[in-house]
Amino acid sequence: CGIVGYIGQQGSKEILLHGLEKLEYRGYDSAGIALLNENGVHVFKEKGRIADLRAIVDENVDAPVGIGHTRWATHGVPNRLNAHPHQSASGRFTLVHNGVIENYAILKREYLADVPFKSDTDTEVIVQLVEKFVNDGLTVEEAFRKTLTLLKGSYAIVLIDAENDGVLYAAKNKSPLLAGLGEGFNVVASDAMAMLQVTNQYVELMDKEMLIVTREAVTIKKLNGEIVERAPYTAELDA
Ligand code: GLU
Repeated sequence: CGIVGYIGQQGSKEILLHGLEKLEYRGYDSAGIALLNENGVHVFKEKGRIADLRAIVDENVDAPVGIGHTRWATHGVPNRLNAHPHQSASGRFTLVHNGVIENYAILKREYLADVPFKSDTDTEVIVQLVEKFVNDGLTVEEAFRKTLTLLKGSYAIVLIDAENDGVLYAAKNKSPLLAGLGEGFNVVASDAMAMLQVTNQYVELMDKEMLIVTREAVTIKKLNGEIVERAPYTAELDA
């Protein structure tokens, strides 16, 4: 299982698919990508290999912003509906997640009793919570942080907002996630291997930290909003 995310100037589709292929060694049962362009979010997901995903991705769609996922099912059988990315009820928010949300059933009961769910995953509760808290009046960043403070378990997450193609939100706890730095673009990935094709400059993320990733900058914050300064390193690996 693994995660990739890209925000830049040009098409991200091939970078995401190639990145997912580099993560294939981690094992998975399904895969998906979401592409965000001026027409909105386009989600493609499928049970099986990256080759199966490639077969259903619309060749005419590309976008400067995108996220991708390989799934190792823990909650909900491996099928297309349970494959990531998952979307909020309105479709505004789209998210990929590696890990296990141990308290998803409690959160669902407590906060999302009247929200229609589309999958059997623990993951969907995360994206539905973000939308609920935005509907309650929080900014997207505040809603993301509030959601993260409620989660018990492990996660690497990347979130996109159909109403803002200038930012990726990411976070981690007990699952790996790195930011990769570029010129005019930035990326996130579970493993530097996935993004060596575009950069060898990486910044580590610690447990219970979040990332705000734009084309120009990567900002690390604690869940209380405090900014964390951390120097990048050069990954000495062969692409
Ligand atoms: N628990 C999530 C699911 O079953 C994510 C699994 C993973 O890490 O790929 O969909």
